[in-house]
Amino acid sequence: MNKKIFALATLLVSSLFLTACKNEKITNITYVNQGSDTQPEYIESTLYDLDEENTSPNQDNRQMFLILHYTAVSKDETLALFKDPNFPASSHYFVPELPTNGKFTVYRLVPDDKRAWHAGASSWQTNSSLNASSIGIEIENLGFPADDEQLPLMQRRWYPFSSKQQIEVLADIILKITKKYEIRPDRILGHSDISPGRKFDPGPLFPWKRLYEDYNIGAWYDNDTVNYYRTYHPWKNDIASLQSKLALYGYNVPVTGQYDQVTQNVVSAFQMHFYPEKYDGMADIETVARLDALLEKYRNVARPAISP
Ligand SMILES: [Zn+2]
Repeated sequence: MNKKIFALATLLVSSLFLTACKNEKITNITYVNQGSDTQPEYIESTLYDLDEENTSPNQDNRQMFLILHYTAVSKDETLALFKDPNFPASSHYFVPELPTNGKFTVYRLVPDDKRAWHAGASSWQTNSSLNASSIGIEIENLGFPADDEQLPLMQRRWYPFSSKQQIEVLADIILKITKKYEIRPDRILGHSDISPGRKFDPGPLFPWKRLYEDYNIGAWYDNDTVNYYRTYHPWKNDIASLQSKLALYGYNVPVTGQYDQVTQNVVSAFQMHFYPEKYDGMADIETVARLDALLEKYRNVARPAISP
C-alpha cells in the first residue's frame, strides 16, 4: 500500500471538496447493502418439531461492542481490499470521507449478524477475540504518513478528521446500531482500546469528545469529577493501582506493579481516547484523574472521601 501517494491525493481531493461542501447538510444518505441476510433463522427439519414457546429471559445481543477504525488507505483501495477473497480483513460498515456526486454512500460489507474480521487479537472487560461479539466500522482516514511509522506516537503527523459530513454520517450509524443492539456507551471503543500497542486506530485526532458532546455517543468523563480526583486524590505514582484501574475499566493489563511495555501501551491507548493532548504512554495526575472519573461514572466505583 503506497500510503504516501494516497495521502497526498486524498489531501488534495479533500481540500477541494471540503471547500465546496462546507456547511452543506446531509439530506440523503444511502446505505449500500453488500451482503445477504435473507436466510431462515434456523434449519428446518422433518425429524422434529421446534418448540419456540418455552423461551428463556436469560439472553442478550451478540453485538456487545462497537469498534471504530481508520482505513489507513483510500476509499477505492479499501473497497478493493475488502472485496478481495484473499485479503484477511473486513468490516460491517465503511464510511468514506466525502459524498460522491452530492450523495453520501455508506457501505455495508458484512451483515450485522455475521462476523466481520476487523478486531483480530483483542480484549475488553475480559472478553477476547471481539470479532465474535462486535460490529466494526471502518472510517476513511489515512492515519499517518508511512514515513512516520518508526516515530514515537506523539511525533507522528496524524491526518485530521476534517470532513464534517463524515462525522455526521458516522454519528447517525452509531446511534442506529447502539440503539438496535443496546450497546452501552462504554463499549463503543477504538481498535487501539482493544488491541493496545498493536493497533493505533482511529488515532489521537478522532473526535471522541465531539461525538459525546454533540450526539451523546460513547463514554466521556465529567469535568467536575476529574477536578475532584485531581485535587483530593491525585495519583501518587502507584503503578499497581494504575494497572488495577485500567483493568477495571476494561483494558487488558496485568497488575505487575512494574511500568512495563504492556502498561505503557495501554496508558497510551487510554490517552489517545480520553486525553488526546498527551498520549506518550506515561501516566500523570491528569490521566489517572480522568480514569477515576470514568470508573465512577461507568463502573460504579464509590467516590472516596476527601483525605484529611
Ligand atoms: Zn483497525
